[in-house]
Amino acid sequence: MATDSKTRQQSQSGDVLTLAAERARRYVRAAAQRRVAPSEAALAALAMLHEPFPSLPSDPSEVISKLDEQGSPATVTTTGGRYFGFVNGGMLPAALAANWLAGAWNQNAALRVMSPVAAELEDVVIRWVCEALGLPANCAGGLVTCATMANFTALATARHTLLAREGWNVIEDGMFGAPPIEVVVGAEVHASILKALSLAGFGRKRVTTIEADNQGRMRKDKLHRLSKRAIVCIQAGNVNTGAFDPAEEIYAWAHEQGAWVHVDGAFGLWARVSPRYEHVTHGFEKADSWATDAHKWPNVGYDSGLAIVRDGAALRASMGITAAYLEPGSRREPMHHTPEASRRARGVELWAALKSLGRSGLCALIERTCAHAQRFAQGLREAGFAVLNDVVINQVLVSFGGPDVTREVIRRIQEDGTCWCAGTVWQGKTAMRISVSSWATTEEDVQRSLAAMIRIARECRAA
Ligand SMILES: *Cc1c(COP(=O)(O)O)cnc(C)c1O
Repeated sequence: MATDSKTRQQSQSGDVLTLAAERARRYVRAAAQRRVAPSEAALAALAMLHEPFPSLPSDPSEVISKLDEQGSPATVTTTGGRYFGFVNGGMLPAALAANWLAGAWNQNAALRVMSPVAAELEDVVIRWVCEALGLPANCAGGLVTCATMANFTALATARHTLLAREGWNVIEDGMFGAPPIEVVVGAEVHASILKALSLAGFGRKRVTTIEADNQGRMRKDKLHRLSKRAIVCIQAGNVNTGAFDPAEEIYAWAHEQGAWVHVDGAFGLWARVSPRYEHVTHGFEKADSWATDAHKWPNVGYDSGLAIVRDGAALRASMGITAAYLEPGSRREPMHHTPEASRRARGVELWAALKSLGRSGLCALIERTCAHAQRFAQGLREAGFAVLNDVVINQVLVSFGGPDVTREVIRRIQEDGTCWCAGTVWQGKTAMRISVSSWATTEEDVQRSLAAMIRIARECRAA
């Protein structure tokens, strides 16, 4: 029985790959025309997936066909150019294709000996990312699932380093009884920083919060005297407004007092590839650590977070699994830079994406999506709706009237299917957030989406 199904799987593996490739190709080709949110019918059909655990094997080709027939219609079309939710990027063709190949490789990226190619590509992409973002060339980094995990990795490293300065070994002795550390965040901090802090043993409530201005930037006139040991978390790109904290001033203040400065730059840090945004992105290179996502603006598939730390030894000291990693002359071992040990070879897709774009391609992607955001803001203002933020990069917040009207417009826009935007509450005001993050978005996508938004908002107002 076992042998039978094994033989069958092997003999059909070529066919099933061809089938999956054909179906995937069909999905990709249709993405530009698909509705963005799945239809009610597609969602209802998901119920058919709930069968008892099959007692007998199925033909792999049938498994893939079923997955496509029931799964594909219930996807959210994030790859089609008219998805503007949650700062989610699309997926570059090179990244998708590399993902297929990497799937066939099935490499475990924990150790160099498990996958020389995965380890080597990580060496390359970490250097490339630092170059692209204008971070110090000798930073170390870890490829993690997402920015939440990247924030955690960096904050755990900061914690380790500040406590080690006091002779406290947090790896051995933990956080109970450790010398206190002050953690400073801005009032518009991303929730993932607070989650990461709680995972690292800092209580969410035990942070010092610096007042923010109307764009969500930390107010530099509100900076105070720091405690002896402090971590200051700043933001490159607020998730709502896209605003940047005044990094230069905050860094000078924090550094003078011996604090560790960490940057949450999940998407906004990528604006550093374009000289156009230098007026908001300058100064972030001075920090001690950075968290970012390649699955947002750079349009690599999920999951693709990056933790980057100026002092590589500090990252290894906090993330290494044994003392062996400290042997001089040994090459970088991926798992001594991340919380995870076994994991997929994320560096493959990131490498393919960055190689296919090059600096100019990445810069063009950033500038083009920002220009689309400007077009949205202009179109909505001209139609008489209030844009709530200064559109500095790719994020637009729009209000269609009171909270109820705005929520209703958002609901109908999502239901309509032309495009998809999420709702948010920005400093007490209910708003729709448009985040232009996909390489695939064209001017026509913007026009079509804008027309749908304005039509629906006018209908709601008239009603
Ligand atoms: C999206 C985002 C995060 C969290 O990203 P995940 O990859 O979902 O963990 C953190 N900070 C900011 C500013 C973000 O925009």
